[in-house]
Amino acid sequence: MKYGLKTMTVWAATLCLLVLAGCQTPSPAMSAAVGKPPAAASASLAANPLPSWREGAAKGRIVEFVEEVTRPGSVAYVPEKDRLATFDMDGTIYCEKPYWLAMTVALDELKTVAEESPAQRRRSPYREAFLYDPAHAPGAEADFVLQYFLLVLETPFAGWTQQEYQSHVESFAASQSDARFGILYRDQFYRPMVELIELLLENRFQVYIVSGSDQALVRAVCERQLNLPPSHYIGSQNALNVRYGKAGVEFLRQGASVPPSNVGDGKPQNIHYHIGQAPVLAVGNTSDDIGMLTMATSNPAYPLTLGVVIDHDDGEREYAYQDARLLDEASRQGWLVVRMKEDFGEVFLGPKR
Ligand SMILES: [Mg+2]
Repeated sequence: MKYGLKTMTVWAATLCLLVLAGCQTPSPAMSAAVGKPPAAASASLAANPLPSWREGAAKGRIVEFVEEVTRPGSVAYVPEKDRLATFDMDGTIYCEKPYWLAMTVALDELKTVAEESPAQRRRSPYREAFLYDPAHAPGAEADFVLQYFLLVLETPFAGWTQQEYQSHVESFAASQSDARFGILYRDQFYRPMVELIELLLENRFQVYIVSGSDQALVRAVCERQLNLPPSHYIGSQNALNVRYGKAGVEFLRQGASVPPSNVGDGKPQNIHYHIGQAPVLAVGNTSDDIGMLTMATSNPAYPLTLGVVIDHDDGEREYAYQDARLLDEASRQGWLVVRMKEDFGEVFLGPKR
């Protein structure tokens, strides 16, 4: 939550009005505004919201935020039409190690094609797909991704229709498990984050997934687990050709992305293009989310907003990697840092197979 000069002005004006109206006691929202510790879960929310979260300051602050912005009469009340929440996907609601799912699916396809055709294996980018195997060279993924990222990601599905690609991702995620945890890719969501999205939907938030991954992949992996309409998945976009046929309109992937990529400044840009208004809650896990988080917490329309940062500090149950720039910015802007080790009672949605 961020209390800027404008916020304080709004609250000061509201307090004056309350006093003039003969109000004796500041509302709970006013108490929250002056920095009291988070209240217990509101009676208006479910008896046990966010059951996979450990009790503590992080859960308390989230529950209190939801209660305050949804309670009619609260100075922090946000009407349903403006009650927008945006979530990053990879590393925020879904495991992104050792690779993002988009990369994992692309590598698998390149290797499949290369194994069917040894001649292909000598060509780029099929050759590159064999250069890094997370099982044998843990920790080397960053260099690999930087070097071959676009080549690997864009090439294997050029010429496919969006529906073919989406179906391919769905069947891959439903049949393949990650090597370390043995969890189906379709179930590698963080259970506490799925619960948070459900809590927001129950409280009439409009939830959007705003991901750097391909938009069709985001739809393919999220639609089964999250109860959101297709228009609420905003990802990086592949350039498409259009084909009109008996099966309706088909979209053919050109194998090149359309700017702006949905990372960094691309997130607020795409939120502006696709949604047209700022969120009041944003959640992310890397410095690529700073723009989106800032867009939410500098929302000029409402005094109470919330930025949430997921800190991967649990190398045992997940992976330990931290984004120093994001954590610095979170400290500077007053964003809530959720520490996976301390705040997540459970980590993954899916069981081991
Ligand atoms: Mg992320």
